[in-house]
Amino acid sequence: MKIAAAGIAIECATFSPLPSELSDFEVLRGDALLPRYPFATAHPDTDFVPIMQAHAVPGGVLRRSVYDALKEEILTGLRAGGPWDGVYLDMHGAMAVDGLEDAEADFIGAVRQVVGTSCLISASYDLHGNLSAAIMDQLDLITAYRTAPHEDALETRARALDLLVKCLRAGIRPQKAFIPIPLLLSGERAMTIVEPGRSVYAKIDDVIDGEAVLDASLLVGFTWADQARSQAAALALGTDSAATWAAARVLAAAYWEARHEFGFGVPTGGTDECIEMALASTASTVFLSDSGDNVTGGAAGDVPYVLERLLSHRVPKALYAGLADAAAVEACYAAGPDAPLSLSLGGKLDPVHGVPLSVTGTVVKLHEGEASGRQVVFRVDNVDVILNERRQAFTTLAQFSDLGIDPLSYRIVCLKLGYLFPDFQRIAPDAIMAISPGAINAQPETLPFHKIQRPMFPFDRDFNWSP
Ligand SMILES: [Zn+2]
Repeated sequence: MKIAAAGIAIECATFSPLPSELSDFEVLRGDALLPRYPFATAHPDTDFVPIMQAHAVPGGVLRRSVYDALKEEILTGLRAGGPWDGVYLDMHGAMAVDGLEDAEADFIGAVRQVVGTSCLISASYDLHGNLSAAIMDQLDLITAYRTAPHEDALETRARALDLLVKCLRAGIRPQKAFIPIPLLLSGERAMTIVEPGRSVYAKIDDVIDGEAVLDASLLVGFTWADQARSQAAALALGTDSAATWAAARVLAAAYWEARHEFGFGVPTGGTDECIEMALASTASTVFLSDSGDNVTGGAAGDVPYVLERLLSHRVPKALYAGLADAAAVEACYAAGPDAPLSLSLGGKLDPVHGVPLSVTGTVVKLHEGEASGRQVVFRVDNVDVILNERRQAFTTLAQFSDLGIDPLSYRIVCLKLGYLFPDFQRIAPDAIMAISPGAINAQPETLPFHKIQRPMFPFDRDFNWSP
């Protein structure tokens, strides 16, 4: 059996003014992709051929020319290496491209054109992907993450390949049940580690029996994309049509019925209110999410508003991670450590939501990493500000230890995230989420949507629906 692996994975916030570029992607080709698919060795009787996979930091709408080039490279690889028994597509599912209404449908449809109808196509998705009938028509198999915050990316990719190999071996083209749900919650409200998300997601295992129902998924969808396909979805794959539809209906109904119970999981409020809450907390360290400028949701990560408020509140020892500002990093490198320096921080990538902040401080540390690029720890009063040459989100403790920083040595740790990622969930003595200005508004109901289907909960609250 000959199986190709390829994909384009990016999450695009259409409300972000900063376009996604080629430089936002890590592009891996051929054998360089094997470490991303260590599970492929579990199928020694298959000829597993990675072509190219590109994955990006979440951002704004992807430039058409970049998308076209990535797509064409994958199609060229598929044409050259074919014919294929199967294709595994390593996707995210919330890509938005200039001039395309449904970018994944365009990409997966083009792959289908090249590999033909007898080839099976299996995709792995983030649960924040947005599906459509056009996408489902082109796929034979699809499976999505079951955890948010995400802890099962590798497991999900492995499952997508396992399902593909299983169906190829058995000569099965599975039945597909796809139920769009008129429900569109921000990721911060639909976590799987707190109720009701935990119980709803636990039902996925219950509906799979490995035969009649081979797999099932529940997608929260991606809120910050104003597109007709943005909504939640339940789906199931199986050999028995009635059982497959019944499984998808169980998941859709469970999610819909719990809709009023989804909350943020942590205290939230306006920025000043949240800073006051953090100052009043008896915890040794409070993690404060600057959720409006959440880089993992696609925001620019250079809105300095919360930094300005922290300084204005004269907070005790605080860490602000971080701010994307290549010019400021350059100025710090030119000045060197310990020199007093005046900088205009941020407000350049996303001038819609942020204005530059003038500060005077000192360079505490200069650091250059392969993945991170050049970084600076810049101290302004009691706040250590991490300045990044490249846009990046702080999602792991390793990113801080690379800089020689222990977040728990600070009273307040401000991160440009919505919910805390697993490393921080594990250690945070206290956590608060500020509904701060930026492209990723934690209350999407307040944003100007035009294209999403209506009625849609929570934009509309007074309507009935059943799967
Ligand atoms: Zn996600």
